Amino acid sequence: MTLTVETYGTLAEANAARRGDSRYLAGGTLVMRDLNYAVPGLSRVLRVSNPPRAIRQQGERLSMDAGVTMADVIESREAAFLAPVARSVGGPAVRNMATVGGNLFAAHPYGDFTAALLALDGEVQFVDGRTQPMEAFLAERDRAPLVASITMRMPRTGEFRFRKVARVKPKGVSVMSIAAWLPGAPMRVSQVRIAFGAMGPTPLRARAAEQVLEGKVLDASGIERALSVATQGLAPVDDALASAWYRNEVAPVHLRRLLLDEEPEP
Ligand SMILES: Cc1cc2nc3c(=O)[nH]c(=O)nc-3n(C[C@H](O)[C@H](O)[C@H](O)COP(=O)(O)OP(=O)(O)OC[C@H]3O[C@@H](n4cnc5c(N)ncnc54)[C@H](O)[C@@H]3O)c2cc1C
Repeated sequence: MTLTVETYGTLAEANAARRGDSRYLAGGTLVMRDLNYAVPGLSRVLRVSNPPRAIRQQGERLSMDAGVTMADVIESREAAFLAPVARSVGGPAVRNMATVGGNLFAAHPYGDFTAALLALDGEVQFVDGRTQPMEAFLAERDRAPLVASITMRMPRTGEFRFRKVARVKPKGVSVMSIAAWLPGAPMRVSQVRIAFGAMGPTPLRARAAEQVLEGKVLDASGIERALSVATQGLAPVDDALASAWYRNEVAPVHLRRLLLDEEPEP
């Protein structure tokens, strides 16, 4: 099949040129795989010559252009709290190409960075100027226009935690990832947000656990009820890495380690 590659000057122009047979190419770590496997119905690739790649602090929020790469995040001072998340995505070659925007669309079991954005009250800005909270976006991302940027809360020191559980370390694919924004930690926490990656078709919030943590101190007795409801609302599937049963069994164990801020296993 013939493949056409079209290069545009802006995301808005690329967005206007989208049709059913086309895919936007960002870092290409997933799109190139589809092209190599000749995924049916993909005959046009749209790209932008120099997509914006800025990271900006805006009061209590941080904004990132969709074209920011994992390597950009690791180098950024403003986004230092997200460096462990970016470092968990693939190996160095992948991180040099993989974008934040592409991660928003990555299918299970990928999407570790997006789990962090969900925990951090992320909001998506589309190229047409509309905005959408991360959770609503993830529920209908297949119909979304191109994403221009993402904003998120900037946590205070010690309020954001991330763990990735993988069989191959340090750069294996997720059995699950857990990101949590814990305002008030390690003392009484309030308005906690916990997001799991690879525990459903998209990253999902553990709302039941969030609710019972309200006003609790993050110690063994304070987190007990949250662990008992940790998997409510999650929808893991069986894959080559782990069964849904296994994921459900170990999720409270990993959530416990994160909430008690225990060192991740080497
Ligand atoms: C070896 C390997 C290891 C990997 N390891 C991990 C991992 O550990 N964790 C993880 O989360 N992921 C992993 N990935 C998956 C992938 O690299 C990341 O999810 C990455 O962030 C995808 O970004 P990209 O720019 O390469 O996306 P692309 O491949 O360019 O695009 C992916 C999808 O997103 C869409 N898209 C991209 N940008 C936009 C935009 N601005 N607006 C609308 N749609 C857009 C594209 O059209 C496409 O459908 C891995 C991939 C490989 C090949």
